[in-house]
Amino acid sequence: MCDFQKILESIKEKAEKTSEKGKVPTYIPELAKVDKNHFGIYLNMLEGNDYCVGDWDIKFSIQSISKVLSLAMAFNCLGANKILKRMDVEPSGNPFNYLSLLELEEGIPRNPFINSGAIVIADILISELKNPKEEFLQFVRDLANDQTIDFNYEVAASEAKTGYTNFAAANLLKSFNNLENDVDEVLDFYFHQCSIEMNCKQLSNAFYLFANKGKCLNNKTYLTSSQVKRINAIMLTCGFYDEAGEFAFEVGLPGKSGVGGGIVALLPGTFIITCWSPGLNPKGNSKLGMLALESFTTQSNLSIF
Ligand code: GLU
Repeated sequence: MCDFQKILESIKEKAEKTSEKGKVPTYIPELAKVDKNHFGIYLNMLEGNDYCVGDWDIKFSIQSISKVLSLAMAFNCLGANKILKRMDVEPSGNPFNYLSLLELEEGIPRNPFINSGAIVIADILISELKNPKEEFLQFVRDLANDQTIDFNYEVAASEAKTGYTNFAAANLLKSFNNLENDVDEVLDFYFHQCSIEMNCKQLSNAFYLFANKGKCLNNKTYLTSSQVKRINAIMLTCGFYDEAGEFAFEVGLPGKSGVGGGIVALLPGTFIITCWSPGLNPKGNSKLGMLALESFTTQSNLSIF
C-alpha cells in the first residue's frame, strides 16, 4: 500500500527547492499579479481518503479547466451528437489560442478545449439556458458540492479588456455561422467561466464525476458512462494544448490545465488529483505542476497505462 501523504510531501519539498518556477502569464493582467511561489496539491481517493499538501486551500483562477465543466454541462443538456456537429475531437498540436479553425473551411474548431471550441460550447449553453452564467455557476457548485464557489469579476473584466485573440476567434466563428448568439454575449459568458476560482480541493471534488462514471460527490448522476468516457478521452488527447502528448507520455492520465497554473488529472475508479503552481512553462502549462504529476504517477505506479 502506497504512503500517499509521504509522496505528496516529497513532491512539495522538491518543488520548493526548485529555483526555476516558470512564468505567470501577463496577457491577462490580473493573473500577472499572482505570486508564483504558491504550490499545493489535493488528492481525492474514491475509496474515501483524501491527502493534501501546501497551498491546497488557496483559491486560484481555473481558466481553461472550466472548458471541461462547460463541455460536461453541454453534454448533460444536449447529448453529444448535436455538439459534435459543430466541432471535432482531434488534438490540435497547437497553442490554446491558435486560430485553428482557419485550418478548416467550415469554421469547425478542432476540439472543445482550444479557445475557439470552448467559445462554441459557450454559445451552445447560451442558446440552451435561461440564465446562462448563473446556471453554469450553479452547475459547477453542485458538481463540487460547494455553494461558495464564485466568479472573479476582476479577472473576467481584465480578460475582456485584453482578449483580442478571443474576439478574433469569435468573430471568425460568427462569419462561418458557427455562433448563434452575439459575439459580445458569448465572450462575456466565456470570460466569466474562465474566471471561476477554486482551490485544489474544490477542483478535485468538481472532477469527481469523471472518475466515478458520471456520478458526482452528492450522489447525483449528471453524465452517462459513455459521456464520461468521451470527455476523459478528450482530456487525454487535447487537455494540454500542444503538450498533450508529453503529458500522456510523462503522467499517463486524462487531465486539463489552465493558465492560472492549475492542473487536474484523474484515474477513473481510483482518484482525482489537483496541483496548483502559478508559473507556466513555455507551452502554457504549470511548470512544477507537470513535474509534480509525473512524479506522483511514477512513485505511486498509478496511471491508466
Ligand atoms: N481565458 C483564457 C484564454 O482564453 C484561458 C486560457 C487557458 O487557460 O488556456 O486565453
